[in-house]
Formats: sequence, structure tokens, C-alpha cells
Amino acid sequence: MKPSLIIAIDGPSGAGKGTLARALAARLDYRHVDTGAMYRAVAWRALQGGLSLDDDAAVRRLAEVAHLFVEGGRVTIDGHDVTSAIRTPEIDRAAAAVARLGGVREVLVGRQRRLGAAGGVVMEGRDIGTVVFPDADLKIYLDAQPHERARRRADDPAHTGGRIGLAGVQSDLEARDQTDATRVVGPLAVAPDAAYIDTTGLSVEATVDWVMQLVEQKIKEAV
Ligand code: C5P
Repeated sequence: MKPSLIIAIDGPSGAGKGTLARALAARLDYRHVDTGAMYRAVAWRALQGGLSLDDDAAVRRLAEVAHLFVEGGRVTIDGHDVTSAIRTPEIDRAAAAVARLGGVREVLVGRQRRLGAAGGVVMEGRDIGTVVFPDADLKIYLDAQPHERARRRADDPAHTGGRIGLAGVQSDLEARDQTDATRVVGPLAVAPDAAYIDTTGLSVEATVDWVMQLVEQKIKEAV
């Protein structure tokens, strides 16, 4: 039997975390958990409910009681399928805003730990290897040059609502990276024991093959 590893993938927006995480989960028959979608769904629900995005107590409460599911490629919150509604520039900004709130992070980190505790999971986000699973079996920090990340995001058919051009996408990404990297709780950071991979100019296949080699190594060590 294959060991049920916990694989953590962190990095900034547009680095290719989602594509890599989905491919790894499919190859390993593991669960894929997109934690960014959790912050996005909570932000969507907060906006829908007219909450202020800096009201930690109110948004935390929402996150606590929400029926939130992010697996199998669909995202639902309290019965609303928000799979495509959460991929807009407005929700990009709203998610980064609620992700700065300590109470909200506490609740979502708890949910993420429960989802991954049994292993057999590929979890992607910003703080998976540093906060959610500091003892993850394998940690990957995926990066790419800002212009490459902006190009990928601009070409992403799942992302809608923006007609701001490549330069606009890049400046939005940089603003969000800045918010993510400088917040007090769970900032975007490279775990000391993470494998750092710059995917600029690297194909999806090459990235997946590279990480699969690291996974195979871990599986060998674990059996
Ligand atoms: O990965 P994605 O771009 O969908 O994440 C949306 C936002 O959610 C990020 O900009 C970040 O602020 C937040 N996030 C986070 N911690 C995670 C995953 C996402 O703070 N583990």
C-alpha cells in the first residue's frame, strides 16, 4: 500500500500551484485541497451578507458556521455553488482582505488541518508548510517571475471579469503578494525545509515530473 503523505504546496498567485496540485493528486490518487478557494468563498459570502471585510469577529463567525466544501473541483458555501463566482478581480482583493484577519485564519486553518489530518492529500495555499502542516512530508514552494505569473493569470479562462490588460493584472498580483507577504498572521513565506522551484520557462509536465521525483523519494523513505 502507498503511504498517505501530506504534500504542502505554497507560493504566490499565478505560480502554478493549482495546476501542479491537481496533477499530483490525480497521479497519486490523493485528495486535492485548494485553501485559497476557502478564503475566496468566505470573502464572497461576507460580501453577499454585507459584512465589512475588516470585521474579524463577524467574518470569523461566518467562517465557523459555514457549510464549506472545496473538493472535486467545485466550491460551495452554504448551498451556493461559487466555483466561478470566486474567480474575479473583486474576490481576488476581498479574499486577500479577509485572509489578513487572525480569527478567520484560525478557523480556516482548523478546517484545513481536519481535511488533511489523515494524509493522502495535496494541499495548496500560502501557509501550508509553515502553519497548517509544519510537519508535512513534502513541502514545495512554487514561484515564477512576476511577468510570467501575470501572463498565466491573464490567460486563465477560469478567471473572469477583468479587462485590465497584462500590466493591470501584474500590478494587481503584486499588490496582493505584498498584502499576503506582509500580514502579521500566516504570511506567505518559504518554509526552511521546502523545495524551492522557480517555474518560469518550465512546462507543466517538467514541473510535475520534477515534483513527482521528490514524492517518489519520500515514498521510498516512508515504506
Ligand atoms: O490561491 P488564491 O489566489 O486562490 O488565494 C486567494 C487569497 O487567499 C490569497 O491572496 C491569500 O490572501 C489568501 N490565502 C491565504 N492563505 C492560504 C491560501 C490563500 O491567505 N493558505
